[in-house]
Formats: sequence, C-alpha cells, structure tokens
Amino acid sequence: MEIQMPLSSEQLAELYVFTAAAAVDARENSEHAGPYGTADAGVLRGRFLEATPQSGLNAQAVISSLVENSRDGHLGTTGKDFFGWVIGGSNPVGVAADWLTSNWGQAAGLFETAPAASIIEEVAAEWLKDILHLPEQFSVGFVTGATVANIVGISAGRSEVLRKAGWDFEEQGFYGSPKINIVVGAQAHTTVFHALRFLGFGTATIVRIPTDKEGRMGVTELRSECSELEGPTIIIAQAGHVNTGAIDDIKAITAFAQTIGAWVHVDGAFGAWARASDNHRWQTDGLDQVDSFATDGHKWLQTPYDTGFVFIKNEAAHRRAMNISASYLPAQTDGTRDPSHFVPELSRRARGVPVWANIKAMGKHGIAKLIDRHCELAQIIRQDLEETPGIHIVNQVSLNQLLVRFGDNADDAHDSDAARAVLLRMKEQNKSFVGGTDWNGCWVMRISVISERIDEMSAKKLIENIKEAWSLVRSPTRS
Ligand SMILES: *Cc1c(COP(=O)(O)O)cnc(C)c1O
Repeated sequence: MEIQMPLSSEQLAELYVFTAAAAVDARENSEHAGPYGTADAGVLRGRFLEATPQSGLNAQAVISSLVENSRDGHLGTTGKDFFGWVIGGSNPVGVAADWLTSNWGQAAGLFETAPAASIIEEVAAEWLKDILHLPEQFSVGFVTGATVANIVGISAGRSEVLRKAGWDFEEQGFYGSPKINIVVGAQAHTTVFHALRFLGFGTATIVRIPTDKEGRMGVTELRSECSELEGPTIIIAQAGHVNTGAIDDIKAITAFAQTIGAWVHVDGAFGAWARASDNHRWQTDGLDQVDSFATDGHKWLQTPYDTGFVFIKNEAAHRRAMNISASYLPAQTDGTRDPSHFVPELSRRARGVPVWANIKAMGKHGIAKLIDRHCELAQIIRQDLEETPGIHIVNQVSLNQLLVRFGDNADDAHDSDAARAVLLRMKEQNKSFVGGTDWNGCWVMRISVISERIDEMSAKKLIENIKEAWSLVRSPTRS
C-alpha cells in the first residue's frame, strides 16, 4: 500500500502554477475553438472512463489529465460569443477568489468555523442591498442559485403565513394544518414549481394566474382569482421571464397582496438586477416591498457557479425556516452573522467570498454599466434583425432577452422547422452560441445578452452569423 505523502511547498507551488496556466489557456482557447464545445458524450466518456484508480497519481498528472480529457467539452460561456440560456461569464477575479475559498478549506457555516469568510459574507450582504436599492431590513442567504433561493424564500413564507393563522409549522408540519393557497403566474420558471413540490405543495393545488403576451402575471386576473380564496396565501411573482425577460408589475401585486395579508415571493433570478441600473430600476418597482425574493450571482453579477441569494424581509421568519442548532455548533450572540442560519446547508463553501471579490472588482457603477450595456446591445440586435426579411422579434425586449422567429409568420410548424434549421446552422458555424425554446407553440431562437464579455463587436458578429444561417436556410441552393 502506498501512502500519499503531503506535497512539499515546491510541489504545491508547481501544482498551483500549473493549474493557473491551464486556466488561462482554457479562457484563451475557448475564444479560438468556438463556443459550442465539440466533444460529444462518446468522446468524453472514451477519455474519462477507466476502472477506479487503485493507487494515487501524482498531483500534477491528475490536473493535467483533467485538462486534457475535458478539452473541447466545455461551452464557451466565459467568452464574448455566448448568448445561450441565461449564463454569466464567471469573472476571473471571482474565480480567483473562489480558488482561495476552496484553498482555505473553511466550512463556512458558522463564524466559529470560518471567521473571515463569515465577515466577508456579512459585508457582501450589505453591499448587495445597496446595489439593489433595498432597505436595511432584508436578511440575505447565500445559496447555490435561484432554485434554492426560491425554496428558502417560499419556505419562510410557508411558516410565516401559518404562524399568522395560529399554526406552528416547525413544530407540527403540515399534518392538520390550515391549507395555504399558492398563487403563481402561469409562466413562472420551472424551478418555482420544483420548489413548490419540494416544499410539499402538489402541482395540481397551485392557482395559476393567466399572463399577458410577455408572460407577466395579470394583476386584474390575480385580483379576481384571489377574491374567492380564504386563509393563508403565498403569491409568487417573477422579475425576469426566462424567455422574454419581462418583469411582473410587482408594485401592484404587492399592494394587492397586502390587502389580503398574503406573503409575496418574487423569482428574480436575473431580472432583479435591473434594480442596479438607474435606467431600468423602474421595471422592478415594488421589489423593495416584497416579503422575499430570489436572485442569482452567477448570472448578471458574473460570479462563478454556484451562487445565488435569497432576500427576506422578516429576518425572524428567515431564521425560523432555516434554523440549525446544536450544542457543539456555537452561534454568535453579539449580532455577528452565522452564514448557515440563512440557508439550508450547514457545511458550505464560502460563497460570499467570490461575491465580495466581484463587487469589489466591478464596483456598483460597473455593475450598473454592465446591465445598461447588455440591454443596449439587446436593442441593437433587435433593431438589426427586425429589418431582415423573414426574421421577426416576437418579444418586446424590455431587458436583455430576445426571441427570434424565422419564416413568414403564418404557420407555426413551418416556422419551427425554419428555426431548428437556423439553430443547426449556427451550431455548425460554431461562431456565436444561441439557444432555442418553444414560444406559444412555435420553436424560436432564444438570445440572452448577459455574459460579461459580450461587446458591440460580438453582438454584430452574432447578427451577421444569424443572417448568414438564415440566408442558407432560406435558399439552401446557395450553400
Ligand atoms: C436561472 C433561473 C432560475 C434558476 O436559477 P438557478 O441559478 O439555475 O438555480 C429561476 N428562475 C429564473 C427566472 C431563472 O432565469
């Protein structure tokens, strides 16, 4: 039996320097190789599949093999040409801070287990509230993403609306409890429905409010649907429809919710960041009034995966829902923040560290500018594509998202085929990455301007690539 010896400081330095060089290389390579990632499952499996290693390999060889085997198996999300899904660019300063986080090996659940990390997170939470123009009162949990942030926000709402109805959820659970009405915009993100199932609310029991053409919850419809509901109620709104980018009328929804004593949670995975910009903040009016909302770090804030935030106005409700305590886990009593008291996990990566670093690197103004620039680029893309015969932008483009339909706009099946063909061409070109989605029964191209390195040049390049793909699909003889 071999025993792995600890690395000498020379070996450690070699390992880390080697890794840093590989990281730089990966960023540069992704620019050259194209954003799609050309290695398929078979290729990747062929490289990685082997019997369980029996004895250990030397440290540098491990990393080297990781780099080598995964080549062409990464999407170019950190580059300028990535417009797929809603994916941020993993700012290098955040990445570097994240390495340190792992290197420090802190279990960032409690101040006791990770003093510096806890204070950094405490400070980052205050900065986030400032950047997002939120009142002091909100408590913040640093979670893995908006999915878990939705779970935490809704779970705090669940116990608070029951507490107001005289029921202690933490003690009694759902057995015999009053029924909670769950009211959701019909086009809520799939993770909201996931969060609800996870929390014990069956999909069939959800009241779905009809939406407008952009996917915004109808406020008139909300009022009339709720007029017959009695008892504890949670209303879930949305800031940033995953396809259109549209933001619900949060102000009106919150004003109505107050009249019936409902808890309002908002899924603001990327749209909540409109608040950081003086030009777009109005779209999120009322977000400072809600009971809870979710947003992501790894989207518009460009932190590395996985980072999201839940903001909850009632700190006591937040803490009740997330309470973890034991005698061997000493909690602070002087107001110092214990990170795990606001999230589901006890042991956790110090997510506040890359957040702190990204905010410090970009600054409040830099973040606002980035959001403005992305929204402006979305308008440039819209205007240009709209003028192209046979290309139609089917959403309003109020933020950073575009939906593009190809064809004569008469027949969904025909235009869906056209969009699929254009998307296939885009993939073959491997120059600009775009996605696709169903929009009201028609397959369309989905463009998201959210990754930090997207600039005017790469937006123009995207436009040209789309036009080229479309012209080839439209008149295949020219190909
Ligand atoms: C991305 C997204 C989510 C899910 O967030 P994760 O970061 O993937 O957990 C939820 N809602 C909306 C609107 C999103 O865009």
